[in-house]
Amino acid sequence: MSAPDITEAEIAAVADVLRSGILSIGPQAEAFENAIAARAAARHAIAVSSGTTGLHLCVVAAGVGMNDAVITTPFSFVASANVILYERALPVFVDVSRDTGNIDVQLVRAAMSDLRAGGSRAARWLPRGAQGPVRLRAVMPVHTFGQPADMSGLTAAAAEFEVVLIEDACEAIGAEHLGRPVGAIGDMGVFAFYPNKQMTTGEGAVIVTNHDAYATAMRSLRNQGRDIHGAWLHHERLGYNYRLDEMSAALGLVQASRLDELLAKRAQVAGWYAEALAGVQGIELPYVDRDPATSRSWFVYVVRLADRKSRDHAMRYLRSRDLPSRPYFAPIHLQPFYVSRFGFNRGDFPIAEKLGDTSLALPFSGVMTRPQVEEVSAALAEAVR
Ligand SMILES: *Cc1c(COP(=O)(O)O)cnc(C)c1O
Repeated sequence: MSAPDITEAEIAAVADVLRSGILSIGPQAEAFENAIAARAAARHAIAVSSGTTGLHLCVVAAGVGMNDAVITTPFSFVASANVILYERALPVFVDVSRDTGNIDVQLVRAAMSDLRAGGSRAARWLPRGAQGPVRLRAVMPVHTFGQPADMSGLTAAAAEFEVVLIEDACEAIGAEHLGRPVGAIGDMGVFAFYPNKQMTTGEGAVIVTNHDAYATAMRSLRNQGRDIHGAWLHHERLGYNYRLDEMSAALGLVQASRLDELLAKRAQVAGWYAEALAGVQGIELPYVDRDPATSRSWFVYVVRLADRKSRDHAMRYLRSRDLPSRPYFAPIHLQPFYVSRFGFNRGDFPIAEKLGDTSLALPFSGVMTRPQVEEVSAALAEAVR
């Protein structure tokens, strides 16, 4: 489905770290953080061991605790809701916009005012069986598939209702909303670097924020709750070991220096798909923002088919040609764990479910060739015919 883009420069950088003897808490992580901070136009960057641990630290730093509510999207990778549960808080899902697949800001506002009102108005938004009262603490949009969420609407709503705005930018490094890089438009955000993302550290991620206090807290939380002076056996708070090791940081530093190239190659592959699939009946191509100052960073190439039956047929047909594809995403609220914990049903978030039923991710990476893209596209066109 995807492949990292690794050159001899990355291999040499990792080998140098191994020769240096400094394998953790060293100069690579710091240099890597500086590179990502610059890229996101953020004051602070904190390298961590994964996107999931990064989002968890954001939730902790935001002060989210037991029975707090965090508004988020059901059309995402499961980690964006799991990190809320780690703190025994409640994910309050609201449905997405059909066009972008991103959280619907009108619904976010409605949920915020109902949760603030409390009582039966609040109960409509809470997972079944949730015990009130709850305090709304944060909102966590996801820049789904690298397409920026409506950050103007979300920033205004978060300010009005005084909640923390956490960006799950795990799929979106390099994306811009109205000319601003995503990640630190809200209070804090996370870029993830698993090998299928736009750039990779193997496992790893970087949190970005413009708030000094959040940055200080998250640096401590990632490092066993030590304070900034780092006295080894002095722990100020309940911390974690969520550090990024030096080999991964060195890999990330080279990838970050190549980010424009990596993003351009992915955009080119997306362009080849768009050309090859243009005019194919029954295939809807990825959303393109009308505002030229808002740009997607290409994480995956996801097309939509008419219904679940044709999507599943296309997937089987591609598989018969030895071409992989994936339904993407299966909504979080219908994951078995969420169904058993909260009793969600089909029909609870109809747009997310419709997108989950009809979306198909095609093989995609910056190292794909035009003939490969054309082969997949031709097979997909045959499948829908
Ligand atoms: C990749 C991703 C994450 C984080 O994943 P890790 O594997 O923990 O790095 C979180 N949210 C979304 C939407 C993602 O795509």
